[in-house]
Amino acid sequence: MITQWSQVYSSKGLSVLVVLFLLMFGSTFPALAQFAPPPAEPIIIRAGHVIDVATGDVLENQSILIEGGKITAMGSRVVAPDGAQVIDLSDSWVMPGLIDAHTHLALMEMDGSDIDDAGSYYYASLIEDTSMRVAQGTQMARSMLESGFVWVRDTGNNGNYGDVTLRRAIQGNWIPGPNMVAAGRMIAPFGGQFQMNPEKPLLGEPEYFYADSHEEIIHAVRENVHYGATFVKLIIDNQPYIYSEEDVRVAVEEAHDMGVGVMAHAMSDEGIRNAVLGGVDSIEHGFNPSDETLQLMADRGTYLVGTDFPASRLGDARYQSNIERNKRAFAIGVPMAFGSDAVYYEAGRTRGEQTLDFLRSYVDAGLPMDHILRMVTMNAADLLGANSGQVKVGMNADIVAMSSNPQDDIENLRGIHFVMKDGDVYVQDDTFVRETPRYHNNPRRKQPRGNMLNQN
Ligand SMILES: [Zn+2]
Repeated sequence: MITQWSQVYSSKGLSVLVVLFLLMFGSTFPALAQFAPPPAEPIIIRAGHVIDVATGDVLENQSILIEGGKITAMGSRVVAPDGAQVIDLSDSWVMPGLIDAHTHLALMEMDGSDIDDAGSYYYASLIEDTSMRVAQGTQMARSMLESGFVWVRDTGNNGNYGDVTLRRAIQGNWIPGPNMVAAGRMIAPFGGQFQMNPEKPLLGEPEYFYADSHEEIIHAVRENVHYGATFVKLIIDNQPYIYSEEDVRVAVEEAHDMGVGVMAHAMSDEGIRNAVLGGVDSIEHGFNPSDETLQLMADRGTYLVGTDFPASRLGDARYQSNIERNKRAFAIGVPMAFGSDAVYYEAGRTRGEQTLDFLRSYVDAGLPMDHILRMVTMNAADLLGANSGQVKVGMNADIVAMSSNPQDDIENLRGIHFVMKDGDVYVQDDTFVRETPRYHNNPRRKQPRGNMLNQN
């Protein structure tokens, strides 16, 4: 949950508390006001073309009123309140901020190995401590925001809860970055995604949380949630011993009972099927599903988060196989959300720029452009439980703008020159404009029970 300072300190409830406090203790409380930022002034965006991603329609000459971090009015005749800041995007295409439902902000493979080589992220997990990875993650988080990503779901491989640390730092206004859903430590059968050395069986930890019995799976879910995971991840089928439908169900029941989502890393048809029948919210990768399994996903509303690497990383054969899978998934009606899985270093390119590469396979699969735009906005928001993904009244003010219509060419997303998150402007005129913040908090690791599928 993102708590706006302005909401906290302007809320009547707290004012009453402060008055009570003053009455009870008879003293002034001068420090409190100093922690609160000045109330945010209303903002009105004059938008030339607004893309309604739900319908694919373009609304011309709209005014979008933003108050308290939310869109409170929108239309052609919205009047700016006194003192409103006016942002002129009258020459731009405006749409909801982008969402990556599968990223690893605290994982950067620096040795240039092929992505098929699990050794490279194994290597990263061995040589880098969590603090270095979080330091790298601050840059990757900022670059995601600069490229227009206002929300991400971080899917593990972050050392010892490095993703939770990043989420708390972003929430507390210590570093700029997208809002985050965090997986914590990935829950997996012994070995995780690595091949262990029998003399050093624990080298896969803390990257993976080994859990083989049902008791261990429940323990792993609970410990993850205790340390701040908000969407746990199961590794289904990286070992010869794969999680069964019943194994998955044990984890899902435990997590869902707390309002925590479950995602499943699954590659094989059997693994995907076990995860879907066990009740997960999304399948990550899902490279080799049969039509029957895809139909099961469509029937049960299980999201496919394809993580389709660019052909340059994957080789043509596997790239074509993903395109064929995307065609089948779309034809069968599987819910699809965008997720990248960018984890590698390319000199001269940011993580945000790399992430946009992962949209190409959907274009090459011939999916309708409006469908692709929904995948990277409202569909991903639905999966994350984020009040984001559309520019409409009641939504968080997560808004991006560019000078050409992305419905014509998905590459136009690379021209995003304006980024607003929760009503705060981070990028304007293609320049990162966020000042060094002066107001902070320390969000807790733990979130209220039942809250985590409604991330605000
Ligand atoms: Zn991944």
